[in-house]
Amino acid sequence: MATVTTNGSKVIKPDHEASRKHFIFTQEHEDLRESMQAWVEKELWPHRNEWEETYWPTEAMKRAGELGFLGLCLPEEYGGQGGDYYYSLVRSECMSYSGSGGTNMGFAVQSDMVLPPIHLLGAEEQKQRYLVPGIKGEKVGCLAITEPGAGSDVAGIRTAAIRDGDEYVINGSKTFITNGVRADFIILVAKTDPQARHEGITLFVIDLRDENGEKVPGFSVSAELEKMGMHSSDTGELAFEDVRVPADAVLGEVGKGFYHISWELQGERLVAAAGSHAAAERMIEKTLEYAKEREAFGRPIGKFQAIRHKFAEMATKAEAAKQFTYATAWRFANGEYPVREITMAKLFSSRVACEVADECVQILGGYGYMKEYEIERAYRDVRLNRIGAGTDEIMLDVIGRSYGL
Ligand SMILES: Cc1cc2nc3c(=O)[nH]c(=O)nc-3n(C[C@H](O)[C@H](O)[C@H](O)COP(=O)(O)OP(=O)(O)OC[C@H]3O[C@@H](n4cnc5c(N)ncnc54)[C@H](O)[C@@H]3O)c2cc1C
Repeated sequence: MATVTTNGSKVIKPDHEASRKHFIFTQEHEDLRESMQAWVEKELWPHRNEWEETYWPTEAMKRAGELGFLGLCLPEEYGGQGGDYYYSLVRSECMSYSGSGGTNMGFAVQSDMVLPPIHLLGAEEQKQRYLVPGIKGEKVGCLAITEPGAGSDVAGIRTAAIRDGDEYVINGSKTFITNGVRADFIILVAKTDPQARHEGITLFVIDLRDENGEKVPGFSVSAELEKMGMHSSDTGELAFEDVRVPADAVLGEVGKGFYHISWELQGERLVAAAGSHAAAERMIEKTLEYAKEREAFGRPIGKFQAIRHKFAEMATKAEAAKQFTYATAWRFANGEYPVREITMAKLFSSRVACEVADECVQILGGYGYMKEYEIERAYRDVRLNRIGAGTDEIMLDVIGRSYGL
């Protein structure tokens, strides 16, 4: 609130530039925000165009590990920073400054999809083998649910892990797997009882490569997939042919994999929601600069009411998405399991990001369609947010069913 004196009397004027930290964040969260954003802007952003051609380099993840950015919410005894859940939100928001949705996604898979289940469910030996080097960024992980024949219908997966003495023998294929082309290890969702649906699913954490970087026998990357966006991220189709793993490669409990992965998806969706509102904010900021400079009919285009109102709509929705995600994260961080609200936040934020991307392209006119202005890439990258981590339709179904329908 700003108090301004006019004609001798004091009046209260809005202070649009005032920026208070949100009440869920402490000064420590803000300190991390400052240092991580500075790192992203200095060491990731300059490479955003190059990495669209080459993928983000594994060295960059190692660097993130050295700086402590991969295990922010994980215990110090495994090399993490021991922070609360809000650190994940800060991490996701800071990554939005990289200018590369693909890099953000590759890192989020490691820090928010792969490492948390190993921490929650893993035996000590699994934590030493995967969590510790994963937090350091020395080993890259991936998580594989989706198959050519089953995506939304998780219980319909066919990859089988059949017990044979002290081992399981894995056969099947996975597709659309982020980090899958280069991953050292995988959390694999497989059927240990192929006749059952939900109750037949078990998680495994297994090596994909040996210490020399060679693929383990029976495992292959059957395709390196080309995509609409997220070009700096590798996406693999993976094949398993009689891959033998020891029985202690099971992560969590045999037959409980569906419930384990449902838990994992909540953290993934909340972080996806944060990534979406942050992406929307970055797009709005860049487009605002443009609208203040670009002139048509003798005035900056932002001065046309039609354009001004587009900003008003976009900013309102992005703010609503952010506040909803923060409020839901507060419940999650305080021990609740607010699946309905997490689902709503993921649905709403990813839709807002896509709407904002579309409007920003429109505001830039022909330049919005050009690669040079980069909104073109953001437009392609954020489109995934309505599909990955559960499609809009699945989110709507989860929400609808939560009301007993
Ligand atoms: C770039 C990229 C990266 C990815 N990374 C990973 C990863 O790292 N690991 C991983 O496991 N997966 C990953 N995925 C897969 C992603 O999670 C799936 O694509 C997504 O869950 C949808 O599955 P599907 O593509 O098989 O679509 P389908 O399930 O075949 O759905 C097709 C359409 O039908 C609709 N539909 C399906 N069921 C219903 C229903 N019950 N009611 C109404 N509509 C329905 C869907 O909403 C969708 O519109 C990735 C995908 C992409 C594109």
